[in-house]
Amino acid sequence: RASNAFRDHPSLSKLLVICTISGGGLVAYSDVKPFGSVYADAAQPTIKKKKVVVLGTGWAGTSFLKNLKDPSFDVQVVSPSNYFAFTPLLPSVTCGTVEARSVVEPIRNIVKKKNFNVQFKEAECFKIDTTNRKVHCRSIQNTNIGGKEEFTVDYDYLIIAMGARANTFNTPGVVEHAHFLKEVEDAQRIRRSIIDCFERASLPSVSDEERKKILHFVVVGGGPTGVEFAAELHDFLHEDLIYLYPDLEKYISITLLEAGDHILNMFDKRITAFAEEKFQRDGIKVKTGSMVVKVSDKSITLKERSSGETKVLPFGMVVWSTGIGTRPVIMDFMKQIGQGNRRVMATDEWLRVDGVTNVYALGDCATINQRRVIEDIADIFGKADKNKTGKLNVEDFNEVINDIIERYPQVEIHLKSKKLKNFVQLLQSDLGDAAKQTTHLDIEKFKAALSEVDSKMKSLPPTAQVAAQQGEYLAQCFNRMKECDENPEGPIRFRDSGRHRFKPFRYKHLGQFAPLGGEQTAAQLPGDWVSIGHSTQWLWYSVYASKLVSWRTRCLVIGDWGRRFIFGRDSSRI
Ligand code: FAD
Repeated sequence: RASNAFRDHPSLSKLLVICTISGGGLVAYSDVKPFGSVYADAAQPTIKKKKVVVLGTGWAGTSFLKNLKDPSFDVQVVSPSNYFAFTPLLPSVTCGTVEARSVVEPIRNIVKKKNFNVQFKEAECFKIDTTNRKVHCRSIQNTNIGGKEEFTVDYDYLIIAMGARANTFNTPGVVEHAHFLKEVEDAQRIRRSIIDCFERASLPSVSDEERKKILHFVVVGGGPTGVEFAAELHDFLHEDLIYLYPDLEKYISITLLEAGDHILNMFDKRITAFAEEKFQRDGIKVKTGSMVVKVSDKSITLKERSSGETKVLPFGMVVWSTGIGTRPVIMDFMKQIGQGNRRVMATDEWLRVDGVTNVYALGDCATINQRRVIEDIADIFGKADKNKTGKLNVEDFNEVINDIIERYPQVEIHLKSKKLKNFVQLLQSDLGDAAKQTTHLDIEKFKAALSEVDSKMKSLPPTAQVAAQQGEYLAQCFNRMKECDENPEGPIRFRDSGRHRFKPFRYKHLGQFAPLGGEQTAAQLPGDWVSIGHSTQWLWYSVYASKLVSWRTRCLVIGDWGRRFIFGRDSSRI
C-alpha cells in the first residue's frame, strides 16, 4: 500500500527522498523497500504467535507470568481473581494484624511490566476442550445484557494453575456452617465473624451459658494453617479484645481439633512438642484423635478415636482447615483425559499433564506422577547393575540413592520425615524381605517392592514454595522453547541425557515456618535445622517481607505491622 501511494503521488516520493537523505542514505523512488517496515510487513506473511493460556493468578500462575520473558508468545490469562494474594499472610488478615489490601497485588500491575502483550480476563474456566484446544470460560460479573458472559479462548499451550479447594471430606454441615481459610474473602469474613461474636455476646439478653458458647472458637485441623490461625486468634483476643470487652474475658475459649495424634505432624518432633506445650500454657485446648463427623449452625459433633465416644461442642465460630481437594472443573477434565480414577491430576516431571499434549499443570492442582517416578527409579537401579548380576552392593546402592535424591527430592523429604540415616534403613523398615540383605540388594525384589513404597513416598507438599518454583521452571522452559525448536537436538546446556530437551523440574526445599503466636515462631530449615522462639519471629518477618511480590505490598505490610505494634489491631466490624 505504501509503495502504491508513492507511485500515485509524486510529491510524496520527493518527500521520501528528502527524508531519506536527511536520514543518512539515498533511496531511489522505485525502491521504497528500505524506507519502512510498512512495506516489508505488508509483503511478508505475519508470523503467527503461539497462544499461551494461563488459568489462575495464584502462586504458580503469577510466578510463570513474572518469569516469562520471551515476547514471541501471545499470552492470555483467565482467573476469577484479578489479583495475586500472598496466602502466607492470610491468617494475619483474619485478625486485622495486616489489612486484606496489603497482601494482594493487582494482576494488571504485574502484567503491565512485561515487554509484550498479556491479556487478562476476569472469568472462571468451566471446561477444557483438548480436542479443539479451547478453554470455555464464564465471566464473574453479570453483563449489561443480563447473566454471565460465556466465551472461549483458543490455546497452543495451556497452563493450568487453578489451585485447589478446601477439603471437607464430605462432612455434613461444613460448607453451610464453617468458615474456610483459603481466599482473601474468607479471611475478611472470619474477621467480621469474630467481632460479631463479641458484639452478640455483649447484648443484655444473652445468658452467661450462652455467652460461653458464643465465645467458643473452634479450629478444625492441626496443620500449619489451622495452628497459625489459632495462635493469631489467641493473640487478637488476649492482646486487643479483652481490653475492649473486659466483661467477656472469662467466657472466651479456643479449641483446636486434630484427627491425628499430634498437631503440626509434618514438622520436626521438637516443633510439635513446643507448639503443643505453648498452646497448653496459652489456654488453647488441643484435642487430638478427634474426628469431626457433623457441623450444625451452633455445634460441632466429634468422635474420639481412642474411646469411640461422640461429643458435641457448642461454638460461636468454627474455622475448617483440614487440607485441600480437587476443584470440580479439574475433576471433569481428569475424567475426560483418562485420569478419572486419580484423586489429583498427574503430570510428568516436566509438568506436562499425563495423557494430553501441550497442557501443563502446576501448583496445588496437580502432582508429579509417583508411579512414573517409581518406574524411573527402578530403571536407574537397572542401569547401575552393569554386570547384570541382579544385585547391588551397599556402596553402589547408596550412590544410586544419592542420584535418585538429586533427581527426586520428594524421596529425601520422605527420608527426613522418617528420621532415617539412609535409604537402606528405610527399605528395611518399609519393604520387609526385599531389603533385608544389607550387603547385597536383590534388584528384582526391590523393583517389585517399590510399588509398596509408592504410597509412602510423599508427593511434593502443596505449598506456595513448590507452586512458585514450578511457575519459574516452566517459564524458563518456555523462554528457551524457540531456541530448542530451532535446534531440534537441543542446545546442550538445556538438554537432559537425551530423554527430553529440558531438565525435569527439581524442587529446592528452603524451609518452613510455623508461627505460634506471642511473637514466637518455629522454623524447620534445610539440613534439619530447627529454630524456635522470638528471634525466629524476626526471621519470619524478614523472610515474608522480602518475599512479598512488590515494593507497594512490602511497604503496606510493614506499615501494618508497625501500626499493630503501636495502636493494636482494629476491632471495627466493617
Ligand atoms: P492458588 O494460589 O490457590 O491459585 C489458584 C488460582 O486459580 C487463583 O488465582 C484462583 O482465583 C484461580 N482459579 C480458581 N478457579 C479457577 C477457574 N475455574 N478458572 C481459572 N482460574 C481459577 N504455602 C507456603 O509455602 N507457605 C505458607 O506459609 C503458606 N501459608 C498458607 C496459608 C494459607 C491460609 C493458605 C490457604 C495457604 C498457605 N500456603 C502456604 C499454601 C499456598 O498458598 C498454596 O500452596 C499455593 O497458593 C498454591 O498455589 P497455586 O498457584 O497452585 O494455587
